[in-house]
Amino acid sequence: MDALYLIKIGEIRLKEGNRTEFEQRLKHDLKRRLSSIHSEVRHRDGRYYLTVAEEHAGLAEFVLARTPGVNGWARAVMTSKDIDAVRAAVLEAAAAVVARGAATFKVEARRSDKSFPLSSYEIASGLGADILERFPSLRVDVRAPEATLYVEIREKAYVYTDGYPGVRGLPIGSGGRGLLLLSGGIDSPVAGYRMLCRGLSLESLYFHAYPYTSREAWEKVRDLAATLASFSGGMTLHTASFTDVQLRIKKDAPAEKTTLYLRACMMIAADMVAKARGLNAIVSGESLGQVASQTAENMRFTGSFTDHAILRPLVGTDKEDTIRTARAIGSYELSILPYEDCCVLFSPKHPILKADFAAEREAFEALGLREAVAESVATMETLEVPFSPELPRAGAAR
Ligand code: ATP
Ligand code: MG
Repeated sequence: MDALYLIKIGEIRLKEGNRTEFEQRLKHDLKRRLSSIHSEVRHRDGRYYLTVAEEHAGLAEFVLARTPGVNGWARAVMTSKDIDAVRAAVLEAAAAVVARGAATFKVEARRSDKSFPLSSYEIASGLGADILERFPSLRVDVRAPEATLYVEIREKAYVYTDGYPGVRGLPIGSGGRGLLLLSGGIDSPVAGYRMLCRGLSLESLYFHAYPYTSREAWEKVRDLAATLASFSGGMTLHTASFTDVQLRIKKDAPAEKTTLYLRACMMIAADMVAKARGLNAIVSGESLGQVASQTAENMRFTGSFTDHAILRPLVGTDKEDTIRTARAIGSYELSILPYEDCCVLFSPKHPILKADFAAEREAFEALGLREAVAESVATMETLEVPFSPELPRAGAAR
């Protein structure tokens, strides 16, 4: 038997006139993630239906729970438009509702095929009575039922119960293409996730400082990229060495300015990669006031090294909220693994808080770091991290 899913999509977007593009992207994205199996995505009357073989239901549900643009989904049963067939499906769904311990329910019916002989109200009340008769432990509660059974009469009849939430947002790619500055920390994977859900497709860029940073630090970033890939459908991860850049900064710059200049170098590198890869935005996990390098003055300074849009989705987010999201998307346990990040080379006691824009631009350029940054970008390595239902876990042997 096949598993059938009914998918609810972002309705707001549908009203804006980009309906066709939105629909095509979502359909294509679902098919791409399910390319290892046979699947069918059909679309009718603002609803999507996904069909896969029963043995692939787990994969389908993994995909539905993680594809931006999917607002929610439910496992559905399709029957002929015959009230006896519909009743049989509804009673089976009610048995599942009872099995999971619900005590109250309602039936919600929708009839878009007006040739069907019963009205929506007649369908709902008739089936409600049938359920009560079969399952005397259940009660009807139309205001706040513990379970809702939906019946839709369309080109076929569909029966389903309460669904599951999706990640919502917009389909990948509908918001353009961006480059995520991905560190091993808690913030940047969450920043990436937020932008993915706004429809931005992403590549990631990580700076390491071998031998001051370890192979494990890189593996953690790769695992974070794989976690993001489960939402984006795949992730291109660029890794660039910043060892020379950092040693130069450490040697030539005053200690309190080292982190600021490192951020500027990261932005220069990001700008180069974004231009080379045709990406139109740079995404960072900065949050206002979180650390010394994240003041408005310092963001102005680092931001001045690119003319791309810099998207900082966490700029106004409290760390606790970021951690909650990190836990929900499965990045938190990886992020807190104790590997050094590339700032180990220097962590000044009193980093500069408010960069004087003109003075720092001049002082930075006087260091002549651009060549070392260009060399780092020229020698960077690129890895395609595929979409996979096997999520990386902290501590798992790989
Ligand atoms: P995170 O938790 O993501 O590491 P953070 O709170 O540690 O963020 P910072 O270390 O100041 O903050 O970094 C700010 C942002 O700069 C990060 O969110 C990330 O976007 C980028 N960044 C920092 N270090 C790196 C790195 N080694 N490679 C790529 N991007 C980086
Ligand atoms: Mg960090």
